[in-house]
Amino acid sequence: SAMRKSRIERTKTVCTYCGVGCSFEIWTKDRHILKVEPQVEAPVNSISTCIKGKFGWDFVNSEERLTKPLIRKGDLFVEATWDEAMDLIASKLTGIKETYGADSIGFIASSKCTNEENFLFQKLARTVFSTNNVDNCSRYCQSPATMGLMRTVGIGGDAGTIEDLQRTELVLIIGANPAESHPVLATRIKRQHKLHGQKLAVIDLRKHELAERADLFLHPKPGTDLILLSAMTKYIIQQNWHDQTFLKERVNGFDEYVKSLEPYTLAYAAEKTGLAQEQIIGLATMIHEAKTMCICWAMGVTQHMGGTDTSTAISNLLLITGNYGKPGTGAYPLRGHNNVQGACDFGTMPAWLPGYEPIEHDEVRARYEKAWGVQIPKKPGFNNHQMVEGITKGKIKAMYLFGEDMALVDSNSNHVEAAFEQLEFFVVQDVFFSRTAQYADVILPASPSLEKEGTFTNTERRIQRFYRVLEPLGESKPDWEIFVDLANRLGADWKYKHPGEVMAEAASLAPIFAGVSYERLEGWNSQIWPVQSDGTSTPLLYTERFAFPDGKARLYPIEWTPPFEPGKEFDIHLNNGRLLEHFHEGNLTYRSKGITHKVPNPWVEISPAMAKERGIEDGSLVRLTSPYGEVEVRALVTDHVDGNEIYLTMNSMEERKAVNRLTSSYHDKFTHTPNYKEMSIKLEVLETK
Ligand code: SF4
Repeated sequence: SAMRKSRIERTKTVCTYCGVGCSFEIWTKDRHILKVEPQVEAPVNSISTCIKGKFGWDFVNSEERLTKPLIRKGDLFVEATWDEAMDLIASKLTGIKETYGADSIGFIASSKCTNEENFLFQKLARTVFSTNNVDNCSRYCQSPATMGLMRTVGIGGDAGTIEDLQRTELVLIIGANPAESHPVLATRIKRQHKLHGQKLAVIDLRKHELAERADLFLHPKPGTDLILLSAMTKYIIQQNWHDQTFLKERVNGFDEYVKSLEPYTLAYAAEKTGLAQEQIIGLATMIHEAKTMCICWAMGVTQHMGGTDTSTAISNLLLITGNYGKPGTGAYPLRGHNNVQGACDFGTMPAWLPGYEPIEHDEVRARYEKAWGVQIPKKPGFNNHQMVEGITKGKIKAMYLFGEDMALVDSNSNHVEAAFEQLEFFVVQDVFFSRTAQYADVILPASPSLEKEGTFTNTERRIQRFYRVLEPLGESKPDWEIFVDLANRLGADWKYKHPGEVMAEAASLAPIFAGVSYERLEGWNSQIWPVQSDGTSTPLLYTERFAFPDGKARLYPIEWTPPFEPGKEFDIHLNNGRLLEHFHEGNLTYRSKGITHKVPNPWVEISPAMAKERGIEDGSLVRLTSPYGEVEVRALVTDHVDGNEIYLTMNSMEERKAVNRLTSSYHDKFTHTPNYKEMSIKLEVLETK
């Protein structure tokens, strides 16, 4: 009613930005967001938030919001009714499926959207369209970490929770910048380090905030982390510092693994990494002296051609030192998006059904086929890299993408955009007219998290509910409602009236969610998977068994992949990543005034040495050129970076500043994750200030 509408409302929500998973109350009056108020009941953050969670919400009322479906007419988009748009999608996709086969359609899911939406999207692809061509943006980030963990311990998620990061004696951070990418998690580490004697070690190219605070900071040459880790592990074994009881009782493959370490002597590691042998011994000693250790890592490890192997090396080191299955230990691949963990968990991946059960296993498919009443294909589908290549090879004719700006976030954007132009039919569903939407044939207006209900899963595997704060703007709709509508137009009989029913279905099918339910998740409650049928969570994994049939972990021999070098003229190493204030491609934060007032533009960090050599000052305009494209951006001179290594903050909606104009199509061997961090470029100064 009108009266109710003009009251101040307080509604619990979960942050839509990073994978830490902060929750808080949002105070609103009509559509005005009055304030964001964290509560002590919030399981992850209690009374903390970062700037994005606190001020990053105005985008919901942006005038740029999509509020009506749009259909392409030549070079223009014209407004359409939902019926017109959905009928067109139904008939076009059916036609393409009939003409070219089910596997000619690709489905790209969203790490910003809910678990329930991702579950329905993979069900739509697998049952209505009969294809496993479904993937999400974890392909761009943590797929190598997932595989490294699958190889060694069996579950692709953090081994424990943020509480373990707080109670461990040593936190080792490799290729991650939590102070900006996972701010509230970083404050926990900062506090323990400063006040409670926790040790902190950082391996990175860039001296970021936690590197500056660390007891030990190692800066190896780009792309050599695996050598450093393997040489250090070998040294630990030579000193007899490995946990022999743990290895004997709980781990397979020791001898073979030790053999694979043969080349990684300290001398070889020093030569390849540029570090002194004493520095490597220093870190090994720190690890030896700590009773417990957690290792955090992120894109600085995974986005390389050897990303899976380096992630494996991290897990091997944890096994060798007995750092799994006890409080304060384990592997922590820090998840980027608010729900990238959940998108994977709920099955938007080409080879896995929800809960990481292989699509190729007959008994797994049979369980789903029985519940869903249709056959689902056995062969794993294309991942998103293969879909783009599939378009250029004429195999993929249509795509359906929601809540993902692939034209900006996939590597080598010029190549990706050229591929999108070749699609016969392209559906893009988003809150804004994204870069990718420019290539669409139909654009559907979706509602952001504040305008719907659902659950997100954070980096700890913690599932949390959020509630509707605002009504959908204009004619926009929650993504899950759109999927139900499309499925039913194509002959399915989906009866979901509420996301809670979708979760109930997922819980009935995927063993890791057995006891998950909306009732148990009510309010500030949360559940951490695997959840037993009585509702018991599992905050700490591997306390008794590793996730393999014999319950034992596996040491996995690895090999180093040298970084990619495009040629001598590209003489500068370009690193890239997040900054505190903006999130990812920036579609949301660049539309939030509270944030753009503070930080309107991205920049490139240049070392004092390079600045001197090339006459660069703060604010100089520079052009960065790779074999694949160029960007122009202003410089910031800082000792966060060293020598010929520079760092571009990756967030920009501006064409000419987007980092993926520069990145290549090279990728990790095992997961096809692009090697975003292995980039050699040249630099010209265009204008000094
Ligand atoms: Fe949101 Fe992450 Fe900031 Fe928490 S730390 S408020 S989840 S962006």
